[in-house]
Amino acid sequence: MGPPGAEALHERLERARRLLAGERLDALLVGDLLNVRYLCGFTGSNGLLVVLPGEALLITDSRYTLQAREEARGCRVVEAADLDREAARLLDGLGAAYVGAQASGVSGARWERLRRLLRGMDLIDLGAGVDALRAVKDPGELGLLREAARLAEQCLGAVLPLVRPGVPEAEVATAFHLEAVRRGAEGPAFDTIVAGGPQGALPHARPGPRRFREGDLVVVDFGVRHRGYCSDETVTVPVGEPGEEARKVYRTVLEAQQAALGALRAGVRLAEVDRAARDVIAAAGYGERFGHGTGHGVGLAVHELPTVNARSGHVAEAGMVVTVEPGVYLPGRFGVRLEDTVVITDTGCEPLTRAPKGWGEVLGWDPDG
Ligand code: ZN
Ligand code: ZN
Repeated sequence: MGPPGAEALHERLERARRLLAGERLDALLVGDLLNVRYLCGFTGSNGLLVVLPGEALLITDSRYTLQAREEARGCRVVEAADLDREAARLLDGLGAAYVGAQASGVSGARWERLRRLLRGMDLIDLGAGVDALRAVKDPGELGLLREAARLAEQCLGAVLPLVRPGVPEAEVATAFHLEAVRRGAEGPAFDTIVAGGPQGALPHARPGPRRFREGDLVVVDFGVRHRGYCSDETVTVPVGEPGEEARKVYRTVLEAQQAALGALRAGVRLAEVDRAARDVIAAAGYGERFGHGTGHGVGLAVHELPTVNARSGHVAEAGMVVTVEPGVYLPGRFGVRLEDTVVITDTGCEPLTRAPKGWGEVLGWDPDG
């Protein structure tokens, strides 16, 4: 799977233009680099995309002009040292009056400067309007997300033998990083979490010097970045024979995950999917121990729209890619989280990740099998 094709990029710019038309804007300014990459294919570290009804301009500095012409074939590339000033100059020349942008995509200082530069024009904050364009994935993106998941699982398979008594958590995380690079990923998609025993009760624990012990549960939350796209998956691995409550909590989290996956399909409110997982955990008496949302979108960013939590206002659409990752965390003792990334369809959802989630099943699993 290569970079997005001309057709895919054309369709993405059309999505941006529908936003433009819907908000009655003359131009859309896109400063967030992931959104720039999504809409026009440019992967450099300095670029400002100006979407107009009839064309798209990519303003970048001299370091990136050649790369921009190569990657952003659907855009007219404009070279400038000061991107924002150049955008203002161009928009002024076009007689633009209403310009939309996402304030959250740039720093507060840059937003204020943009407002000053766009003298005589209205700069309108579109909230998360541009981010939302990325929520439904196209077939090329789904292919890359699938490849990323596969790569990450091969890395997991390579490092799981290290999860045994006496090995420090940080060794597993470092080995995962090395495997990711060796197998051709750009690197880990986020700081890998490897959290054994009481560390596992901290949902975002940093892997440290603690060595695994007999009876531990070990939470491994892992992902790689592959051609810009992230994977995100979590397994919880028993070391030896953890106790009765560990098994009970594990069973509960697995049931909660299955309930949420079973509730997920196009048209469903994502808050209800969160509820499906939460109800199972509450019924088992661990309601207070599930402190985070059930999931989030995954794509160019490891956390993106839509959100799957109690406050989510989003409705599932076919082609959205989300995680389903309930967890139960018992302070000072252990934690369990099980996470898969799935693509939503009209009738349900299809997994992009596929490491087995049953008790101990991931041990000895062959990701290539
Ligand atoms: Zn994760
Ligand atoms: Zn996640």
